[in-house]
Amino acid sequence: MIARVSLEIALRKEFDYSIPPELEGQVDVGSRVQVPFGARKVLGVVTAAAEESGHANLKPIIKVIGTQTLVTAKVLKLARWIGEYYCCAPETALRSVLPEAVRKEDAGWRERLFVRVLPVIGGFPKLPKSQQRVWNIIEERRGILLAELAALASTTAATIRKLEDRGLVSITNEISVRDPYANETILASQPIVLNPAQAVALQKIKAAMNRNEDRELKIEDGKREPSSTLLLHGVTGSGKTEIYLQAIAHSLEQGKGAIVLVPEISLTPQTVERFKARFSSGKLQTLVAVLHSHLSAGERHDEWHKIRQGRARIAIGARSAIFAPVEPLGLIIVDEEHESTYKQEESPRYHARDVAVMRGQMENAVVVLGSATPSMESFYNCKIGKFTLLDLPERVDNQKMPHVRVVDMRQTARDGKGPPIFSPQLKEAITQRLERKEQTILFLNRRGYSTSLQCPKCGYLANCPNCSITLTYHRPEQKLACHICGHVEKVPPACPEPKCKNPAIRFAGTGTQKVEDILGKLFPHARIRRMDADVMKRKDDYQRVLGEFRRGKIDILIGTQMIAKGLHFPNVTLVGIIYADMALHQPDFRAAERTFQLLTQVAGRAGRGEVEGEVFVQAFTPFHPAIQFARRHDFIGFYEQEIEFRKQLKYPPSSRAALLTLKGRNEDKVKFSAEHLKRELEKLTKSTAASAAVVSTLVDDAGLFDEGVKLNTRGACVPQANAFRDLIISGPSPAPLLRAENFYRYQIMLRTRAMSRLSQVLAHIVGKLVLPDDVMLAVDIDPANLG
Ligand code: ADP
Ligand code: ZN
Repeated sequence: MIARVSLEIALRKEFDYSIPPELEGQVDVGSRVQVPFGARKVLGVVTAAAEESGHANLKPIIKVIGTQTLVTAKVLKLARWIGEYYCCAPETALRSVLPEAVRKEDAGWRERLFVRVLPVIGGFPKLPKSQQRVWNIIEERRGILLAELAALASTTAATIRKLEDRGLVSITNEISVRDPYANETILASQPIVLNPAQAVALQKIKAAMNRNEDRELKIEDGKREPSSTLLLHGVTGSGKTEIYLQAIAHSLEQGKGAIVLVPEISLTPQTVERFKARFSSGKLQTLVAVLHSHLSAGERHDEWHKIRQGRARIAIGARSAIFAPVEPLGLIIVDEEHESTYKQEESPRYHARDVAVMRGQMENAVVVLGSATPSMESFYNCKIGKFTLLDLPERVDNQKMPHVRVVDMRQTARDGKGPPIFSPQLKEAITQRLERKEQTILFLNRRGYSTSLQCPKCGYLANCPNCSITLTYHRPEQKLACHICGHVEKVPPACPEPKCKNPAIRFAGTGTQKVEDILGKLFPHARIRRMDADVMKRKDDYQRVLGEFRRGKIDILIGTQMIAKGLHFPNVTLVGIIYADMALHQPDFRAAERTFQLLTQVAGRAGRGEVEGEVFVQAFTPFHPAIQFARRHDFIGFYEQEIEFRKQLKYPPSSRAALLTLKGRNEDKVKFSAEHLKRELEKLTKSTAASAAVVSTLVDDAGLFDEGVKLNTRGACVPQANAFRDLIISGPSPAPLLRAENFYRYQIMLRTRAMSRLSQVLAHIVGKLVLPDDVMLAVDIDPANLG
């Protein structure tokens, strides 16, 4: 037999190896193997088995890693799709489906020495005092870790070994599972009686699950099955999580498992606890496994294998948990589906939400996407009938939404002296909260003290030497820092221009440090804390400060993005957004959408308790629709207006986009290469023969991902001569951030509704494209960020 192996070193190619007799029966599709490659030994995954090979003199596989195949056939298929759709090497896609801790050859189960009591044969011997003490402990515990026993009895392993010599105990190596939640006692929770809106939503999810159970996967000619992806739209506190929990219970009843994706930042102990409390207390301890980047490598290894072995049926984790080997899979939940952290910003540049939809399709599982502010993409998919919309219009506790006031900062700027940071209205509101002993959150998504340093005389501006942005002033360390590449320099005492030397240089712009500073002067008695990447250095800092805030030890919390999400503090009655329009001015077609989501989220932090909340949104463009719709908590209104803009300009979701970025140290070369690439794209996409030649074997996604592409009876894509008639190629143009980390970047943007087909053509072009050695190309399908 012959095994076809995809090697971990990216070569965009698979290689054949023979299976030596001693490994017969151990090598399967999905096995991780070590194979010779030239003089090296490399790791890879078996992707297929074959009777014969086109090559002679095959080298044998050296060894198989693990006792089970690590990449299941289903995950392998998903990885292949990722390679094709996201236009990356198959081995890159394959590598991303296994956590590093599982992939590495040396990570394994931790074996530890256990001491166990043996039945006493004959009379019990008289023991020396030290051994008797050890025995007393073991006799009570029956089995105990050797190390723990030695510590408890304040003795050495040698003493314990003497008991083994006497035949009283056995000492053996056993697997000891590293459970990151071992020290937590979690109280079991029971399903809550749902309110009418929740009940309708759950009933529709269950109906989709039952339908999936019944049907055989067959796609009728051109006709879509009722959608198995549902979008659950409901504000925070509307009871989405409770629906997830009950839908998972239904999946377990059907004998199937579930995957729950949450953004990394929401993967807090509280979130995990809610799932464990329902499914993983008492006897069912292992039912929930958590895949989290904060776990140790060993814990991650063990949690993953719990899933692979079927002991855990529910996997919770951030982005990459979408590859968890849950089998059979009945349900995938993507909470906060609009979050851009679901998009991986390095190759493979996949979007976990879209991979979830694909995986659901492949494995006949139901996918539930949840959000208070759904992405334009998902809501659009509901409108065109690909997804089913489920609505939870109210909070479970009938609490009112906070009252949002928009403050026109142009007014404040005209009236005041110096930079307007706090409008009189916001200042007044903070004063009230301090008097009433209520808490305030202030939000500004920019760290540092000042955002630029300028000489008013000669116009000198302190820029990063490696990137095309200004340096940010950090006052505590008296340094200027680049927030892109990390470059740091000292603050000059005077203008560094040799001909100028003006000592009166000026800082401008506001970051969180300045807000903290000025706030301290305005309210000297308030207890103020700042939360941003500069002060949150250690893993537990975040939880610690939030704990203090929760216990009322902090009056005002200032923070960046970090405090925007999922926090729930009943005593917070005021939220101030310092510059609401900051994110609006970014050169990205999603700027308004991001602003709307951010304002809605941040505003949602106010009034989670008895007292109604109040939100002050300070803005220089107070009448911008994103701000006004957020003020009225009107998602639908925002969507309706935004979709018109997207349709007119043919931006996603009315079409799909791909961003090709070329980068290199020599700007001319980069620009030239970009122009060359554009000509190639024009040539190839125009020739229909070429585009028809690259139809893939894995195109059952076409119905999901491309519009206007016909499916034939087997679900395969029928090549159409005019598949690219809607293609728009724009650029090349300098990236919004032309230079980053000393690389110049130029971009070409492609837009079409037939993206799966375009990906194939792109792969073809990228494969043949000849670029100068020092120019690199990155392909980003469905980019989340245009920077
Ligand atoms: P979301 O996920 O939308 O933020 P949750 O499911 O967390 O909402 O619900 C918010 C709170 O309300 C939780 O404490 C939850 O236990 C509770 N809750 C959810 N559904 C109900 C219900 N039908 N009746 C009473 N309380 C509920
Ligand atoms: Zn820089």
